[in-house]
Amino acid sequence: MDAYELFERHVNPGLAGLLRFTGLDVVEDHAEGVYVWDRDGKRYLDFLGLYGTLNLGHRHPKVVEAVKRQLDRMPMSVRVMISEPTARLAARLAEITPGELSMTFFGNSGTEAVEAAFKLARIHTGKPEIITTEKGFHGKTLGSLSLTPKPEYQDPVRPLVPGVKVVPYGSAEAVAAAVGPQTAAIIVEPVQGEGGINIPPGGYLRDLRRIADDSGVLLIFDEVQTGMGRTGRLWAADWEGVAPDLMTSAKALGGGVMPIGATVGREELFEPFKENPLIHSSTFGGNPLAAAAALAAIEVTIEEDLPARAEEMGRYLLASLAGLKDDYHDFIAEVRGKGLMVGVEFTDADIGAIVISELAARGVLTAFGLNNPKVVRLEPPLIVEREQIDEAVNALDESLRAAGEMLAGVL
Ligand code: PLP
Repeated sequence: MDAYELFERHVNPGLAGLLRFTGLDVVEDHAEGVYVWDRDGKRYLDFLGLYGTLNLGHRHPKVVEAVKRQLDRMPMSVRVMISEPTARLAARLAEITPGELSMTFFGNSGTEAVEAAFKLARIHTGKPEIITTEKGFHGKTLGSLSLTPKPEYQDPVRPLVPGVKVVPYGSAEAVAAAVGPQTAAIIVEPVQGEGGINIPPGGYLRDLRRIADDSGVLLIFDEVQTGMGRTGRLWAADWEGVAPDLMTSAKALGGGVMPIGATVGREELFEPFKENPLIHSSTFGGNPLAAAAALAAIEVTIEEDLPARAEEMGRYLLASLAGLKDDYHDFIAEVRGKGLMVGVEFTDADIGAIVISELAARGVLTAFGLNNPKVVRLEPPLIVEREQIDEAVNALDESLRAAGEMLAGVL
């Protein structure tokens, strides 16, 4: 049986079907920089970047080297001794994250980072409620899913964690109105990723900070997707110079080589660990291999000034897409983005689906936002070159033309 059939039979038949529909029922083989090759030797430009994970591209040599070095020494911590890479990574995060954030809890994924923030907020305040936003995406384990208001994901597993209030994204007034005596925290993505690359009005994060301060609630920024340079600043919060009380990071933190999640917070939020060191824990969280990868990823991101590169290349990509929007205004409703977190909103989700499969046929990888099927997101590695952006935009142009011809044939 080939890998596709094994995947279909033993992993996820629905996803296998979707991949077949998109023409991506192929087996991945190897990857380097912004490119991936399938088993048949076809090369793809990776403009999805593992949902904003591959900021450094595939297999950045410095991250690979750091991981190999740690692998030969000690990949896993025994947990009953101190792991040096883990401790050094937490200290480095304290240096590079906004404001007074100085302590880190490590998990292995974005959703675990959010779970930890959720629990720490409840423990610290002694209050149950959290305010989240419409189309927000914070992960799919039960706590994080309760903060991810999408019926298709939430309804099959109800009851959810109680105490979650949902407000429109981008409206500080709505947050202010929702805050009550039982509110522990507000959680927000500085730019919504899975919701369809939604950019809030300027001043939103600063207004949320003020509301949180005035009402004594905690502010959590979920930077799982926006972090590590993606939006043109190291953290998207840096655009407004605002510091949250807790911040989550994952995806690009592992340098595209190892999975890792981090919940970074102010010292007082980590007080519960003084009394009860195992109040929250993870066997693998922040293991030496992942920590070595993250330490290298941070150094590469800063040394190569990748946030600035994301800003510059993002501007170039958006300008190129603006031309396409004019040519295909029946199909493209809007093009928007911050840095290299870019979304193309189609007038109809079906057009987006055709375009994704046409792009795949032309060797360009993209995908929908999980909470917004009308939006195809473009999140290439931050090391992407102008020529590669041109290649992707040309492929998009051809894909839109093909979609137009296909639809004209149907209508
Ligand atoms: N938070 C945000 C903002 C995300 O974009 C995601 C994933 O897309 C998550 C949390 C969940 O991360 P993971 O898939 O690693 O659990």
